[in-house]
Amino acid sequence: MPAARRIRTIGLLLPALAGLALLAGVAGFLVSEGMGLAALQETGRHRLDLYAESLEREIDKYAYFPATLGLERDVLDLVTGRAPLAWGLNRYLERLNERAGTLSIYVLNRRGRVLATSNWNRPDSFIGEDLSYRPYFVEAAAGHQGRFFGVGTTRGEAGYYLSSPLTEDGAIVGVAVVKVSLEQLEQSWSTVEAPVLVADENGVVILASVPSWKFTTLRPMDEPTRRHFDQTLQYNARPLAPLGLMPQDRIAADAELVRLSRPAEGQLEETVFPVSGGFLAQTAPLHGTGWTMTVLSPADQVTGMAWAQAALAAVGSAFLGILLLMWMQRRRHLRELERKVEERTRNLRAAQDELVHAGKLAVIGQLSAGLAHELNQPLAALRTLSGNTVKFLQRGNLDAAQGNLERIAHLVDSMGALTSQLKSFARKSSGASRPVAVRRPIDNALFLLDQRLRRSGVAVQVDVAEEVAALCDPNRLEQVLVNLVANSLDALAGHESGRLTLTARTVDGRIRIQVADNGPGLPAEVLPRLFEPFFTTKEAAKDASKEGGGGLGLGLAISAGIVRDFGGALTGANGPDGGAVFTIDLPAATLPTDPTAVQAGDFPCPTLPSPP
Ligand code: ADP
Repeated sequence: MPAARRIRTIGLLLPALAGLALLAGVAGFLVSEGMGLAALQETGRHRLDLYAESLEREIDKYAYFPATLGLERDVLDLVTGRAPLAWGLNRYLERLNERAGTLSIYVLNRRGRVLATSNWNRPDSFIGEDLSYRPYFVEAAAGHQGRFFGVGTTRGEAGYYLSSPLTEDGAIVGVAVVKVSLEQLEQSWSTVEAPVLVADENGVVILASVPSWKFTTLRPMDEPTRRHFDQTLQYNARPLAPLGLMPQDRIAADAELVRLSRPAEGQLEETVFPVSGGFLAQTAPLHGTGWTMTVLSPADQVTGMAWAQAALAAVGSAFLGILLLMWMQRRRHLRELERKVEERTRNLRAAQDELVHAGKLAVIGQLSAGLAHELNQPLAALRTLSGNTVKFLQRGNLDAAQGNLERIAHLVDSMGALTSQLKSFARKSSGASRPVAVRRPIDNALFLLDQRLRRSGVAVQVDVAEEVAALCDPNRLEQVLVNLVANSLDALAGHESGRLTLTARTVDGRIRIQVADNGPGLPAEVLPRLFEPFFTTKEAAKDASKEGGGGLGLGLAISAGIVRDFGGALTGANGPDGGAVFTIDLPAATLPTDPTAVQAGDFPCPTLPSPP
């Protein structure tokens, strides 16, 4: 790929990769946060149920307490004025208070004055006090169960007031009150894992696992409400500052993400859980009261985890993206490489074809001298025969003339066969393999080298059965054989009793053609380089007409390539009697039975007739 294009591609890919990483990061964040918040909501809901239940149970314990006082004769006698204050009743209430673990128990008459109380002997005793303005009295005097959270006016002690009307013959004669300390409940919260608070109907935090949150407000309070509280002394003039919960995002009807700012230095408290930062606030009403309970589950670690997951997803996807890119790049390189290899192979094949063709032409060059000689003989014969015929005709010897003309026709036929044979050899081969009776190319090769063979005096022995057939291209196989036989003739040059043996056999379902000679054989240093292009031990061709034509060192390299193309192999070795043995291994084939399937190059080699 050109550099400019590569830079452009990288310029396009980098933003795409960054976009992918960003997308994966956002998706990772959202999925992780969603799952984290869902899990947090689930645990928060469990905590809320658990804490609310324990608080309700604690409150319920005292629910019927004040009403049971109405069963006491002494109490009714006192509130109806039938009997004066019996100190025994005060002591009874004191004991009862101690046993029940409540803050105080007291009895008021119809007008709201305290007649008897458990704290009778304390300096801040309620005895004689008028509590008619307290909402719990008002409720009970109206015949209802009173429920009220308040801070005591005398001791400033926060508590839950439960009141009940005292009735006699269906008429309300007084009110019984039990004040329960809720601090006791808070102690059971000492093991909670998340901040929890209870707000009363006015949104004032009356119970909290973080002490400093108590008597803060969940929502802003307007002036009239504040004034009203001052009048009723409900919170005993506590400042009621806002807790500072900042709503962020509502994720369900009962769940909201909120944020709490860090408390001022010095107001920091020892807690096992964080008291500032992001929280999931889940709120539920407390039955039997107007209160709500809120559990705050720390949500910062969910966000932290989501960021970590987002980073992981982004890095992971970027990594995958890079891997993908590298893989694509590699594939492109490989494809490029393949294309180059293919192109080279094509070029090499073309070059090889050229060389094969050039090799043929060279052989033809070598042959032409021999051929001129081969044709000269019949031409001379023709010359003599035609001269004789003219004479026979002049003499009127028609029979002799006819005989001569027939011989002339025969000679012309033979010469025609010879030239067409050469034409077929020079023709470029199609290269397509087909079933070939190997006897034909062997005969053709020997025919082409006939002149050289005869001149060399080498004894040729051919042992090839007609039916031995291989899958190849006959022209090219012929080229290989010409080359091998020519090499043998070169090796046998000057040899007194040169011998050349050509055999073809079927061995293990393959065809094995061997060209063996009894020449000097292949020296050890030649053997490994035999099929190397341009490797030759022969002198360069100085004279094209010279026998053998000198060596280019291409013959065996090209021959091996041709045989390889047939799906075969060409090997060279030394024979048992010292000469060289070249073996062509080819896939076997079955010859078609159709005689018309015989193609050019397959025709048998004509035997040249000797002139008369
Ligand atoms: P060239 O014939 O042009 O030298 P080849 O590739 O046909 O190229 O042969 C390479 C070499 O192999 C020859 O130079 C010769 O040394 C050796 N060689 C080939 N055939 C024979 C053989 N029949 N006997 C001995 N040596 C041979």
